[in-house]
Amino acid sequence: MTDIIQLLPDSVANQIAAGEVVQRPASAVKELVENAIDAGATDISITIVDAGRTVIQIVDNGMGMSETDARMAFERHATSKIRSAKDIFEIRSMGFRGEALASIAAVAHVELKTKRAHDELGTHIIIKGSEVESQEPISFQTGTLFQVKNLFYNIPARRKFLKKNETEFKYILSEIYHTALGHPQICFTIYKDGDLYAKYPVANLKQRIISIFGKRFEKSLLSIESDTSICKIYGFIGTPETAKKQNFDQYLFVNNRFFKQRSFQNAVVRAYGTLISPQEYPPFFIFIEVAPSQIDVNIHPTKTEIKFVDEFNISSIIESAVKYTLGKSNIVPSLDFMDDSDYNDMFSSSNTEIKAPTIQVNTNYNPFASRNSDVKNWEQLFEDFENQPEPDIPQQTFASALNSDFNEPPVPQATCLQIQKKYIVTQGKTGLLLIDIKRAHSRILFEQFLHQIQSASQPSQKTLMPIQIDIDHTECVILQQILPELQTMGFDIEEFGAQSFVIHGCPSSIEVTHVESIVRDFIRDFSENRTNISAHAHEAIAKLMAKTSALYRNVQMQQDEMQAFIAQLFQCESHSLSADGKVAVILLEYEEILKKFN
Ligand code: ADP
Ligand code: MG
Repeated sequence: MTDIIQLLPDSVANQIAAGEVVQRPASAVKELVENAIDAGATDISITIVDAGRTVIQIVDNGMGMSETDARMAFERHATSKIRSAKDIFEIRSMGFRGEALASIAAVAHVELKTKRAHDELGTHIIIKGSEVESQEPISFQTGTLFQVKNLFYNIPARRKFLKKNETEFKYILSEIYHTALGHPQICFTIYKDGDLYAKYPVANLKQRIISIFGKRFEKSLLSIESDTSICKIYGFIGTPETAKKQNFDQYLFVNNRFFKQRSFQNAVVRAYGTLISPQEYPPFFIFIEVAPSQIDVNIHPTKTEIKFVDEFNISSIIESAVKYTLGKSNIVPSLDFMDDSDYNDMFSSSNTEIKAPTIQVNTNYNPFASRNSDVKNWEQLFEDFENQPEPDIPQQTFASALNSDFNEPPVPQATCLQIQKKYIVTQGKTGLLLIDIKRAHSRILFEQFLHQIQSASQPSQKTLMPIQIDIDHTECVILQQILPELQTMGFDIEEFGAQSFVIHGCPSSIEVTHVESIVRDFIRDFSENRTNISAHAHEAIAKLMAKTSALYRNVQMQQDEMQAFIAQLFQCESHSLSADGKVAVILLEYEEILKKFN
């Protein structure tokens, strides 16, 4: 028999890696901005068009690259930041994996212009889907420009599941905020769809916080500081009155890198004690400095989870630093920020010198735009469908949908119409079928998962790195109980010490980045309904998976997709109800329609 194993071509391997590294436009922005920081830039300008779908451009005044490096930078595992395994424990740079540029170039059209200070000419590279299209000398200022166009042009599925522009832009902003807070000594300028959106001039930390979050923090931040042999801590916490119901304004940085860590967040909250109510979260911007050998950033490509060798002690140090500041602030009034009067300028909107860089792009470019423009006009006819008063839909039809599945298969291949991206209308034998896409999708997934669990045939995927989850004693007991079900569904979870589990694999239908939160959801869900763990475990797990994996959120669907979707739905045992029993399909009988017209 002939051998069958082959090495994947680079373009394919890079595309696979891109799935981990570049999940959405915001991840590309984060990687490129971090590269600019690593290159020693003091000025970074970020241009976003169409929430990053059409253009992401980052220009920096960093050290630039040589001709060879510029080309090498796009190879996978090509990095100037580490040389050997031991360097992983000494990382001071933001990047080190050498994966980002290769990944981005595999799923977009990328243009690079770069020049080092002492070179006369720079290098200009155009690369598309990992293929270099051209490389030429160019005259350029010192620094680097990356332009990423048409992200995910060759992965329609990924492109399709991006959320609406407003939401994607929020993700981008949040990444920029993290980096801008971590590096107030760098000037950041953001352009959105051709206009100046924000400029954060070189500042100190206090000023940077205010320039990002506004004057609401002007009088309400208290400075914290602590210097021990384990770590150095500095930053700001909010006065108790600024605590909110949501923990949006909680920022932790280690060696200027943003990260998330529940135990540290809890330590801060503990320090506030009874100064805040139990449902409130205080804002904070806490910076930790430790020797790089004391942390492991090598956990996930998106790098927001960081392991600390000395997590417990650092928690305590944070707690006491916060307590100290809060205690002291009873006597010392909150600080007064705006003593630096020049600084006020940065809030004035009449800053006219700044001009948006010009980019020539077709902002209407969308390779996945609907081919059928008629459908769009039709849609308008139905625009207000959702807002129509209830009597417009016959009551008994609702009842029939609620009671059971009406036996009304759609006419095969009948034209489907998507309305407000949320509903599909198609013909049944005796009436019009109105389908709520999200609910119907949850039904399809639910039955698929349930079937897979019951037949133990869920395909599994390995996580890139084992994911450790730490839980308390009760949660451990619950997880142990549902573990066998989880295993049959394709989760590969192993007990690891007293109150820890390690996830090695998960069902291939869920994203690896979601796996930890899905497992935590399982535990929470079961801890809330503890009595029925074994009786309804299969259904409950399938329901949860359906809920967390339901993808069809406001996505424009093509005709054939809608037909396939409906066919799948009507193969379900209960096709007219969502996974959690809500109406997913309504039948509007032709007779009723006729009556109305008469
Ligand atoms: P990493 O940042 O993990 O090293 P990347 O794929 O992000 O990997 O980048 C590869 C290499 O390209 C970097 O190590 C760096 O040498 C070079 N590089 C990337 N962006 C820039 C930039 N803006 N300025 C100078 N060099 C850069
Ligand atoms: Mg990088």
